[in-house]
Amino acid sequence: MNFSKKGAISFVPDNAGLELALERITHLAIVAHQDDTEIAAYNGIAECFNNKNKWFSSVIVTNGAGSPRTGLYADFSDEEMQEIRAKEQNKAAVVGDYSAQFQLKFSSSEVKETNPDAVIADLIKIIKASKPEVIYLHNLADKHITHVATAVLAVKAIRKLSDEYQPKKVYGCEVWRALDWMQDDEKVVLPVAQYDNVGAALISVFDSQVSGGKRYDLALRGRQLANATFYASHSADDCDAYTYAMDLTPLITNKELNIKEYTLKTIDNFKNDVANNLDTFI
Ligand SMILES: [Zn+2]
Repeated sequence: MNFSKKGAISFVPDNAGLELALERITHLAIVAHQDDTEIAAYNGIAECFNNKNKWFSSVIVTNGAGSPRTGLYADFSDEEMQEIRAKEQNKAAVVGDYSAQFQLKFSSSEVKETNPDAVIADLIKIIKASKPEVIYLHNLADKHITHVATAVLAVKAIRKLSDEYQPKKVYGCEVWRALDWMQDDEKVVLPVAQYDNVGAALISVFDSQVSGGKRYDLALRGRQLANATFYASHSADDCDAYTYAMDLTPLITNKELNIKEYTLKTIDNFKNDVANNLDTFI
């Protein structure tokens, strides 16, 4: 499969061949950076792990340039760092039994400003060839601007596809902003407790980030556990760990729905809830 950028990677961990690897995909994550998949979309990884009929795959849109580095990695050049991060992502694909791992190698500025059409074209190729049932994206209120750009481009790519290629569900998941603030009846609650040893191994594979100064391994598990415990105040936890997501499916089923207004409505609902509670007492 030819992509826009020369260094783009298609990796099939079990050497099944790219054609078969694409055909069998049922769950697909499309995210900005290496390790975002494992933070945002572990629900899909666990759903497909050890399952003969379901296959997870991941698309990393950027090249991972400009990531923070300390300790062991302090002296690495930007190019060396990009190479390490790409290798780490492929290691995760092995650990998580992914069907395929794609790394499209766009720079952040290409995604955000200069080359969005090429990103959309590459995403359309992958989605058309794989017809996933579920797609995991960044949530549209994420605070990392490259995450937001990637999610919007993915929504635009899916909208360009005819009905036969449309996924059944599209979720916007948590990375650089949790979704605890969303109303309970709006948020999608995705269980992430299954195979927690695999989940721990997956995020720990990204050593250049974790021992490079960011304890994503601890923070991710902490958020997932906190989500489960603080989800409902009056009932016992029936699952130990959750990721929250925005349901982005309406943006696909209704192509005219305004992406910004759809997102802001969620924020308005939060605002109204806080206001109503306070109005009761003030
Ligand atoms: Zn990221």
